[in-house]
Amino acid sequence: MDSIHDYIDQLRIIDGHEHLATPQIRKRENHDFFALMHYLDSDLSSAGMQQGILGRSSMLQNEEKAAQFLTYWERTKNTTYARMFRTAMEDLYSFRDWSVNGIMNVNEKVIAASQNPNWYKEVLVDKSKIDLAFTLIQTTKLDYDLFRPIMFMDFAFKLRNLQSIQDVERQAKTTVHTLQEYLGAVDCLLNRYLLEGMVATKLGHAYWRTLASEKPTLRDAELVFNRLLACTLDEGISQKESQPLQDYLIHFIIQRSIAYNLPIQIHTGHHEPSVSANGNMITNSNVTLLLPLLAEYRDAKFVLLHCGFPYHDSYLSIVKNYPNVYSDFTWVYIMSPSAGKRILHQMIEMVPMSKITAFGGDYNYIEGTYAHLKLAKRIVSDVLKEKVEAKELDEDEALLFADRVFRDNLIDLYQLDLDQNSPEANRK
Ligand SMILES: [Zn+2]
Repeated sequence: MDSIHDYIDQLRIIDGHEHLATPQIRKRENHDFFALMHYLDSDLSSAGMQQGILGRSSMLQNEEKAAQFLTYWERTKNTTYARMFRTAMEDLYSFRDWSVNGIMNVNEKVIAASQNPNWYKEVLVDKSKIDLAFTLIQTTKLDYDLFRPIMFMDFAFKLRNLQSIQDVERQAKTTVHTLQEYLGAVDCLLNRYLLEGMVATKLGHAYWRTLASEKPTLRDAELVFNRLLACTLDEGISQKESQPLQDYLIHFIIQRSIAYNLPIQIHTGHHEPSVSANGNMITNSNVTLLLPLLAEYRDAKFVLLHCGFPYHDSYLSIVKNYPNVYSDFTWVYIMSPSAGKRILHQMIEMVPMSKITAFGGDYNYIEGTYAHLKLAKRIVSDVLKEKVEAKELDEDEALLFADRVFRDNLIDLYQLDLDQNSPEANRK
């Protein structure tokens, strides 16, 4: 180890993007070993395992699940998703015995951890040194001091049937008869989420349509909206028909995010198959499709997630030039550590350091966040050490860069209210 690795190792960080259940949810759902698959499940399925076979609704007994798991683990254990799972299991549960018996034993330990009231503090605060994490679990009611909510807004613009309008009416406790009234209902929800602690809005539409948006008029959008209002609950309209309304609403949500001074996180690039509703159409999520929106809303703060991978070269050009665009390494290191390393090298060469945020675990269980952060800190340390050796940065600049990308930039960008190195001070 050297001083850069040691420094980054002890750094307390802000985690910019997770899908972590609260401790209360984890306890209630009593998560076991098989509930911790998440990304690994995608690789196991890609290697041929039947989808859902390890899940809660599977007909298999635990021993049978363990045997299935081991069959496909042997085919998959080279990937970074698998390595992360191994790191989490080894470091946090001292798991070494990759047999059916071994899995049955560690399964009991995972269940005990789910019931342990100190487990989140041990893993996130003590071991991972995370002072605050943003989590996207479709609610602002988190009841956990370490977490802040970010809300997916897709539900407000993915309007293909009457049901989706009625869902917004129910949440906003109102009824709408015109598009104008619908916009009022969406704005009322945004305002409520903000009061409930939301730190950013999130657009995840690359998973179910193209990132490209046109600029329809209110009249174009109204025609579609009124057609939807006239539908019965059984009917619906096609994605193509709905698109002008969706595009109009995407503009509206960006405009309101600007008005509330909220950063807008947008999914770009690679798809996670378990949440992809359009068959992993990767071309829909090419970051260059966002250019008209990025050019129009110069006063927005666009946080483009996942470094646009595999369109990261275009991504670097965009983040370099647009003052309203921030780069975000959420999920990147576990997709490919070597790609993450290369992107970070180029990012340091090209992009002002005030616009770089280095970590979001993007996991739905805390053991994954722990393993991902351990990898991320090693990659950032390796890159900074290489930059210092190449005399592109001096050591003080490298340490300052680490402070910024793991912590200070997130405090500024998301206007967080917390004292340096004081987990107790995170309460607003
Ligand atoms: Zn995510």
